[in-house]
Amino acid sequence: MVKAVVGANWGDEGKGKITDMLAQKADVVVRFQGGANAGHTIKNKYGKFALHTLPSGVFNENTVNVIGNGVALNIPILMGEIDNIVSKGVPKPIILISERAQLIMPYHIKFDEYEEERLAGKSFGSTKSGIAPFYSDKFAKIGFQVSDLWDSEENLRDKIESVSVQKNVLLEHLYHKPPIDADETYDTLMKYKDMIAPYVCDVFSYLRDAIRDGKTILLEGQLGTLKDCDHGIYPMVTSSNTIAAYGAVGCGIPPYEIKQVISVCKAYSSAVGAGEFVSEIHDEAVADELRRRGGDGGEYGATTGRPRRMGWFDCVASKYGCALQGTTDVAFTVLDVLGYLDEIPVCTGYEIGGEVTTQFPVTRLLHDAKPVYEVLPGWKCDISGIREYDKLPENCRKYIEFIEKKIGYPITMISNGPSRDDIIYRNPRN
Ligand code: GDP
Repeated sequence: MVKAVVGANWGDEGKGKITDMLAQKADVVVRFQGGANAGHTIKNKYGKFALHTLPSGVFNENTVNVIGNGVALNIPILMGEIDNIVSKGVPKPIILISERAQLIMPYHIKFDEYEEERLAGKSFGSTKSGIAPFYSDKFAKIGFQVSDLWDSEENLRDKIESVSVQKNVLLEHLYHKPPIDADETYDTLMKYKDMIAPYVCDVFSYLRDAIRDGKTILLEGQLGTLKDCDHGIYPMVTSSNTIAAYGAVGCGIPPYEIKQVISVCKAYSSAVGAGEFVSEIHDEAVADELRRRGGDGGEYGATTGRPRRMGWFDCVASKYGCALQGTTDVAFTVLDVLGYLDEIPVCTGYEIGGEVTTQFPVTRLLHDAKPVYEVLPGWKCDISGIREYDKLPENCRKYIEFIEKKIGYPITMISNGPSRDDIIYRNPRN
């Protein structure tokens, strides 16, 4: 059985926590897209961890953690993460890296930095992890696959030389920076080869056999629907597809094997980087209070430490986000944080050109969209520690049920704290 855990919003919805929780019963956890540009924060018996590249199943000794072919693989970061968790007492995880995954090259990170510098005030707010240059090269067919590290020295050097020719034109004339040193690049790749050699395998065959053997496989998405390169708030998106459907492409499994799609929705909104964000809270004092209280220790980027932009729950964006994911279940997270509010605004529509819509529009129209709010009463108490739905305060249940009706997908899990056990199931099929 293959299940996907994906984000229905802008990312940072708490997918790491939900994946870590479900991974306890999973045989395999797979990362299928993205790179080290976003992070999952996970709190469990070993401590608190920010993972950027490792799948969230690494805390379970028996779970196999797969880096699929769709991932932008930053080898030093991956190795650093393995060392970090092991140094904190986590048993050495089982990791498999697809031989078809492609590598973040040192120059991808440089190009990301240089381009943000060039764009200055008009930049994308990139995390400068090399993701956009990486995916550009992948689709321009000048990327390096993991398997290339095992090619002959002559072939590998030829490829580096040929890629350097075009990169160096940009480096010299557009960015006015030093050219790529081909020898240094080759030496770096040889170091990468030594680092990942023990983990590389034919992930496609492994997963095919795992499905045949009835294993439980979790596909772990990064970011959320609204950051999807095709369906999100283009161009303020990430350079890969964040939707569950891409899980099939990004690790090579048949699409019909994905039987459950758990879309993670946060009980309020947050976003990082630039881009349209209709339900953003513009009163800085109100936003800052939610930011400080949000998540586990505040809403600050797991990769960059940047303060996240804060907003109220957006039913328009979340309905769209859940629909594109092909949601079977919604995991509604970080609800405990809202217990301090007397009243909670919920964005139920967008007013565009004098008309109210509940359909999420294209980016051009988002510029002019104004949020339409309905205000719900708060519950004014701490709900952490509650394990049964019926024990939640009435106004809290009303908040959940109001949102469920607006988005049109069943909320079957409610997360009321950062730890694995802070979960309320609402449906026996889980
Ligand atoms: P991800 O990338 O989607 O995994 O999101 P993040 O790593 O940004 O997770 C959101 C943050 O909220 C992390 O610090 C989590 O530990 C925390 N978190 C997850 N679920 C809950 C919850 O239900 N309540 C609280 N208070 N924090 C949570």
